[in-house]
Amino acid sequence: MLLSLDVADREVVVAGGGAVAARRVRALLDSGARVTVISPEAGDDVTRLASHGDIRWERRRVRPEDLDGVWLAIAATDDPDVNLMVARWASDRRVWCVNSSDGFSTSARVAAVSRHGDLAVGVVSEGAPDPSRVARVRDSLGALLDEGQVDLRRVRGRRGRVVLVGSGPGSSDLITVRGARLLAEADVVVTDRLGATGLLAALPETVEVINVGKSPDNHPVPQHEINDILVDRARKGLTVIRLKGGDPFVFGRGGEEVHACVEADIPVEVVPGITSALSAPALAGIPPTQRGIAASVLITSGHAGPEPAVRAALGHGVTVIVLMGVAALPAFVEAALEEGADPSTPVAILESATTARERVTHGTVSDIVRIAGEMAVKPPAVIVIGKVAEPELLASALAATPRP
Ligand code: SAH
Repeated sequence: MLLSLDVADREVVVAGGGAVAARRVRALLDSGARVTVISPEAGDDVTRLASHGDIRWERRRVRPEDLDGVWLAIAATDDPDVNLMVARWASDRRVWCVNSSDGFSTSARVAAVSRHGDLAVGVVSEGAPDPSRVARVRDSLGALLDEGQVDLRRVRGRRGRVVLVGSGPGSSDLITVRGARLLAEADVVVTDRLGATGLLAALPETVEVINVGKSPDNHPVPQHEINDILVDRARKGLTVIRLKGGDPFVFGRGGEEVHACVEADIPVEVVPGITSALSAPALAGIPPTQRGIAASVLITSGHAGPEPAVRAALGHGVTVIVLMGVAALPAFVEAALEEGADPSTPVAILESATTARERVTHGTVSDIVRIAGEMAVKPPAVIVIGKVAEPELLASALAATPRP
């Protein structure tokens, strides 16, 4: 029978102080158990844990009375006869015991476990112990959960909540493991036009998908209406995933959505994402900072125009990264020149990074407006102004490296 034990604050005795014992001790501590190790000698790990006060270590051989009143015993000495004895003493006292050297005279087995939010997957072998085989099965099952391939929607004990999930710049494999798992828990997904929208195709048909990126008349849904949708669905007890491009808090209006939920008394959490501001340049071989070239980065939006802080950055060789900046490009270039930037300062425009339409355009402060016009550069695009955008820095080297 496979049971899950709550060992938090409960006494557990571990006989043995070597590597096997140390692994068990770590797992027990992780679960909050009160651990006593009994062993004349111990390895580095147990010794350190004892000296930090994380466990108690009794430097002597294990005795039958050690099993009195404990909840669980682990027999993990390097002597199978001692382990067998401990298992018998435990059995006499009706204490469950894991015998690490014997898969048969053991009353309990430790499962190989992987954790996924509030779910734990445990795998045990009921035959001869074969830890690496069991771990392989655990890893394969865990990967399915981490990849969001298992329907994790709640059926019982549902409590409405909203999770803002950053989905990364667009490619489906640039969402975080936590983001993918939460998507598998979604009853409702509220999505935009940008980000890893390809993930939506894999959702079960019964998940409600609401696209607030563009309404039929081509206007984005106003923010207050988006907030109302989130709150309304969560009030019905549903798990609402607000899937956002990049990172929810980088020009994503995530803060407003969090406020709306808090005001409506709806539990809300945030899963960070890989922002296009940093990842679109990275993928094009542009490091926003580089030793000796740029020590600071300023991320701004084209909508605000080149405000004073941006002007200062442009004039001082700070890397300036502009989102939503295609229309404002001429204003930024002009500001750079007015602030004394070298006209040969490199500029790169990264369109639709990680999607099928991705394109990289290079130029300088003096010619990028003309080049962008000729290339008919279109949003979404990230613009990088600064020495780090020089193709010879890394971009050319990376372009020469074959991609898988
Ligand atoms: N929260 C998002 C940004 C939202 S604002 C993030 O962290 O990435 C929308 C702007 O992001 C776009 O106008 C564009 O400037 C940029 N953007 C988003 N995805 C992009 C992509 N795949 N390639 C280039 N720019 C992108």
